Amino acid sequence: MLHAGEKGRGEGAPVSTVPVLSTSFHTTPGAIGFSANDLQQDAPHFYTRWSNPTLEVLETRLAALDGGEAALSFASGMAAIAALFLDRLSAGDHLVLANVCYAGVAELAHDILPAKGISVTTVDASDPAAVEAALRPETKLVHIETPSNPILRVADVEAIARIAHAVGAELSVDATIATPLGLRPLALGADYVVHSLTKYICGHGDALGGAVIGKADDIARLRRGALIHFGGALSPFSAFLILRGLETLDARMRVHEANARRLSTWLEAHPKVSRVLWPGLASHPQHALAARQMTNFSGLVSFSLKEGSPAAAAPLAEELKVISYAVSLGKTKSLIFYIPSDDIVRSSFHLEGRAAADYRAVAGEGVFRFSVGIEAADDLIADLDTALS
Ligand SMILES: *Cc1c(COP(=O)(O)O)cnc(C)c1O
Repeated sequence: MLHAGEKGRGEGAPVSTVPVLSTSFHTTPGAIGFSANDLQQDAPHFYTRWSNPTLEVLETRLAALDGGEAALSFASGMAAIAALFLDRLSAGDHLVLANVCYAGVAELAHDILPAKGISVTTVDASDPAAVEAALRPETKLVHIETPSNPILRVADVEAIARIAHAVGAELSVDATIATPLGLRPLALGADYVVHSLTKYICGHGDALGGAVIGKADDIARLRRGALIHFGGALSPFSAFLILRGLETLDARMRVHEANARRLSTWLEAHPKVSRVLWPGLASHPQHALAARQMTNFSGLVSFSLKEGSPAAAAPLAEELKVISYAVSLGKTKSLIFYIPSDDIVRSSFHLEGRAAADYRAVAGEGVFRFSVGIEAADDLIADLDTALS
C-alpha cells in the first residue's frame, strides 16, 4: 500500500509519488513500433493511453496487494470490467454471471453482450452447484462478485474456480467491496480480480478508477487488445489521488470494519429494522463461508425496515445530519442509499421466478445500502437513531 512500485531513493529523490501528467514521452525514430500490436512488455513509455509512469506505480502496487503478476488500470470500474468481458468473450461464447452483482455489470451483460452474439446465463453464485449447472462447452468466463452489491451475498471463490477450470473457463472476481485486505481471489484460484478503485481503494470519493489484476501474459494482452484500443485509460492525476488514498487503506479498513460491526449490531436490535445484512454478522446467510474466506468484513451494511421502507427513504434522507444520502460506497464519510427491490430485480438483474423470490426473501421491498464511514460510531448511531424515530 505504501512502497510497492516506488521509484528511486537517490539523494534528492522525492519521497512522495509525483504525478506525471505528460501525455507523450520522448522517443527515438524506430525505437518503438507505431502499432499497439507491436508493443513489447518492457517498452519505454510512449503515450499515456498505452502506459504512464504514475499508472505504472499504481499498477505495480495493486498487483503486489492482490498477489498478482501484473495489473492494468482503467478510467473506472466499469471500464475495467467491460474491457475484460469484451477481450475474453467473442460471438458464440458464453458468460456465466452472478445474478446479484453491481447493477452496471448486470445491465452490460443483459443489454449489450447478447446483441454481440455472446450468450449470458445468470446464477445464484452463493451456490457452487448452480454455477456448475450453468456451464456449457462454450463457457469462456465466469464472473462473480463477493460480497455482492447490494445484498452482500458471499460466493465461494475456491469452489467456483475449481468448477470453472474443470471445463476450461476462466474466473474473474469483483472484489471491490472486500478490497485486497479482505479477500485474495487469486490465491483462491481466480484468474482475474477486478476492482472499482473509486471505492475503498481511493477511499475519499474524489476519483474514478478501475483495475484488473492477473497473470502477466493476460494483462499484457488486455493492455494491447482492450485498454489501448477501447481507450478507457485512467488519468494519471486520478492515479495520483488513488495512490494517495491507498496509503491509508489498511488504517481505514480497520475502522470501516469496526464501525460496520457496531452499526450492524445496533441496527439488528432496533425495533424498526427487519433485516441487517453484513458478512461479519452471525445471522448472515453465508457467515461461515465469509469467516473462512475473508480477513476483513468491510464496511458495507444493508438493512431493511419492518414497515414503509420505500416511504421512509425521503424522511430518512432529510433527517440525517452526519450520514449523506448519496450513491457510491467505500468513502471515508458515510453514505446511505435506498435500493427498491422491484426496480433492481426487473431493470438490472432481470430476475424471475425462484431467483426473484430468493432476492426478495433477503431484501424485502428494498434495502438501505449503508456504506459505513470512519466517523465516530457513536455519532453515526445517534444520527440514524434520530432519523429512524
Ligand atoms: C462501483 C462498483 C463498480 C463500478 O465501478 P465504477 O468505478 O463506478 O465504474 C463495479 N463493481 C462494484 C462491486 C462496485 O461497487
